[in-house]
Amino acid sequence: MKLDVLNQPNDKLWYTDGLDFTCTQCGNCCTGGPGFVWISEVEIQRLAEHLQLSVEQVLKKYCRRVSGRISLKERFNQGNYDCVFLKEIPATRYDERAGRQVQYTKRICEIYNVRPLQCRTWPFWKENLQSPAEWKHATRNCPGSNRPGRHFSVKQIHDLRDAPDWPENPPSSET
Ligand code: SF4
Ligand code: SF4
Repeated sequence: MKLDVLNQPNDKLWYTDGLDFTCTQCGNCCTGGPGFVWISEVEIQRLAEHLQLSVEQVLKKYCRRVSGRISLKERFNQGNYDCVFLKEIPATRYDERAGRQVQYTKRICEIYNVRPLQCRTWPFWKENLQSPAEWKHATRNCPGSNRPGRHFSVKQIHDLRDAPDWPENPPSSET
């Protein structure tokens, strides 16, 4: 998976009209090449409460230490590195072209209600907002970006970009 948050210098404001984004819940951002899903101490505590485990158990089972920080573990899955909490389940949906219900594999986050800040604020990360080229590159596998959807003003984008803790109405929420 590719979810590495980096500290970058101030962005150039190329999105003065805001940006549209509506998550399709495809799960692409939870897999891919190797990467990191950083999780804070308070988020580990919330995760432990959610899973009804101790903090030590959560750290051992689901986390790894990387350069003094803690990231969720990954699972190698058919050439990709899945977040340890990405789950594949069989599902059906209506296919307009076929004119019938079709089966497909749905990918869900097993800890959606307590997912880390990094997951909650995607795609409005500092490094993604640096330029149109960075945005295009970062969101190339994210069908929720670059199409009409929920509109985010510059202020909303910056509130998410700089959020110190879970925002009230994150972009990946379904509301
Ligand atoms: S915690 Fe959930 S939303 Fe975040 S990367 Fe893992 S599966 Fe995806
Ligand atoms: S944020 Fe983008 S890539 Fe991730 S699940 Fe939503 S639409 Fe898919």
